[in-house]
Amino acid sequence: MSNCIFCKIANKEIPSQFIYEDDIMIIIKDINPQAKLHYLAIPKAHYDNIVDLSNRAPETLNHMFNVIAKEKDNLGLQNGMRVITNLGEDGCQSVPHIHIHLLGGEKLSEKMG
Ligand code: AMP
Ligand code: ZN
Repeated sequence: MSNCIFCKIANKEIPSQFIYEDDIMIIIKDINPQAKLHYLAIPKAHYDNIVDLSNRAPETLNHMFNVIAKEKDNLGLQNGMRVITNLGEDGCQSVPHIHIHLLGGEKLSEKMG
């Protein structure tokens, strides 16, 4: 996707600090954090949303959760986290390249919306 901001970040056309990187995915800090720690786990290849990713590349989705589990201590999320992916208009997905929000570093509100 030529005009996709997360494609550009993943392929280093736009500079960004990668907290984690492998061949399949990156983890970056969200620029507008909604918790003490707020990361985005993003596949390097473009998928529109979680359904598209799950349908077309379930092994990538699985890999992303394996990495999230493996990296949680390095991310400061050893005490737990909230894992969110927004989908579509009502879900307020603003970037149409699947990204998984990881929120934590503090006790979060029990309310989710
Ligand atoms: P969503 O509303 O679920 O699509 O989330 C998009 C997220 O991307 C928001 O939390 C933004 O703060 C975040 N975001 C947008 N641009 C950047 C960027 N260049 N670097 C890091 N996070 C970004
Ligand atoms: Zn993209």
